[in-house]
Amino acid sequence: MPALSNRISYFTDSVIRRMTRIANTYNAVNLSQGFPDFDPPQELKKALEDVAKGDIHQYAVTWGANNFRQALAEKQSRFMGLPIDPDSQVVVTCGSTEAMIAAMMTVCNPGDKVIVFSPFYENYAADAILSGAQPIYVPLKPPEFSFDPNELEDAFRQGPKALILCNPSNPTGKVFSRSELILIAKLAEKYDTFVITDEVYEHIVYKPFEHIYFASLPGMFERTISCSSLSKTYSITGWRLGYLIAPAHMIDGARKVHDFLTVGAAAPLQEAAVTGLKFSDAYYEELREIYTDKRDFFLKGLDSLKLKYSVPQGAYYVMVDISEFGSKSDIEFCEWMAREVGVAAVPGSSFFKEDVHHLIRFHFAKKKDTLQEALNRLEGLAAKAKERKP
Ligand code: GLN
Repeated sequence: MPALSNRISYFTDSVIRRMTRIANTYNAVNLSQGFPDFDPPQELKKALEDVAKGDIHQYAVTWGANNFRQALAEKQSRFMGLPIDPDSQVVVTCGSTEAMIAAMMTVCNPGDKVIVFSPFYENYAADAILSGAQPIYVPLKPPEFSFDPNELEDAFRQGPKALILCNPSNPTGKVFSRSELILIAKLAEKYDTFVITDEVYEHIVYKPFEHIYFASLPGMFERTISCSSLSKTYSITGWRLGYLIAPAHMIDGARKVHDFLTVGAAAPLQEAAVTGLKFSDAYYEELREIYTDKRDFFLKGLDSLKLKYSVPQGAYYVMVDISEFGSKSDIEFCEWMAREVGVAAVPGSSFFKEDVHHLIRFHFAKKKDTLQEALNRLEGLAAKAKERKP
């Protein structure tokens, strides 16, 4: 038999999704793959029910149904503070996962370099391989996850085609400050580089932190492909609705990539999701409050277990330090914890380019009861970890 492609040997399956399978095997509380266990807004479920009875069951326009793009452009204009043309500056994709790979394939030739902050959401490394690009990693140093401007400029000196910016950041919960973003913008201008953003947690930011859209910085819309999705904002990760927003000439390219990757996102789901895109500002304020409450509840629980962590400023993840448990492998630790303690987390090493094995990622997009159950189970963690040591 002929060999399979080389590219598939350069990356593994997703560690995040593997942890979900492990969690299911051991019936562990799944705080690994980040998705809610609570309902989306009732209005969205009702809209989906109505759509199911209607006649929208065939392909939508490949780059997104007209009314979806219109509602999306109106909502994003409101939050980004930019005029967005629904007809020429938007492509609707199957989740932001497709948006990111489509963006990479739109801007990168094989061999081009892309700057990726590390730790990073695992898709970016696979996206780079699939699009033939080579990542240049710039460390975000724990516990604050700040970067060194000189290291960043060194990376820009290598002539990258693009920088990938996940803000608010998965897995760290870092929210980039205006001064950090301006510094990145100046370097992007100086070295003539594109910026591809992943802003899926744009509405999950904890006070006093605020999300600043990279494309909204002076002069940046022209060189930015903003990627995001409805998954986290409306608790509909299974609907797989994402999008890219960029200047028209980039969108022309992205439309072609998208067309041949997937043809289009599900038409009935786009139709139903218009209801969410039309929610007033109060919805987003409430979402922030709901997640602030979950974050505070879970962090308080971690405090009472005397676990050390970096306080997330946004997104719904927290990186916990497991150094005290003396495990050499965070992967093995997470598998053991799912099996013996009954709580699943993601091994931090899957997010880091550097050799970091002392962090694990929990997410807290769960009902309070679920979080409480996880905390109850984690009470036995220290004692069980001690027994486990040789
Ligand atoms: N973004 C979520 C996470 O980081 C879900 C990942 C996925 O499976 N698409 O856990």
